[in-house]
Amino acid sequence: MGIVTRILLIAAIALLAFFWIRKMLRSGNNLEKKPEDAAPPEQMGERPQDLIACDHCGLHLPRADACFKQGGAYCSQEHADANSNSDTKD
Ligand SMILES: [Zn+2]
Repeated sequence: MGIVTRILLIAAIALLAFFWIRKMLRSGNNLEKKPEDAAPPEQMGERPQDLIACDHCGLHLPRADACFKQGGAYCSQEHADANSNSDTKD
């Protein structure tokens, strides 16, 4: 292994460690501080949750709760299956 490769590897590990430690410190601070003090400005305003509509029934639900299948978003696994089945018939 060349010296350049070794230096790059060490630099990459140091960078990862740096970001990891920074993340750990941040989450620790957030737990100790009051939420009002720690919240960044963009989170102060009431931002609506990221909602998407089910491609099958049109129900709106948070993106985190959605089922994703073949490029579509669905409210449940049943609707994901139902829609992909009808799409692939022809
Ligand atoms: Zn649905």
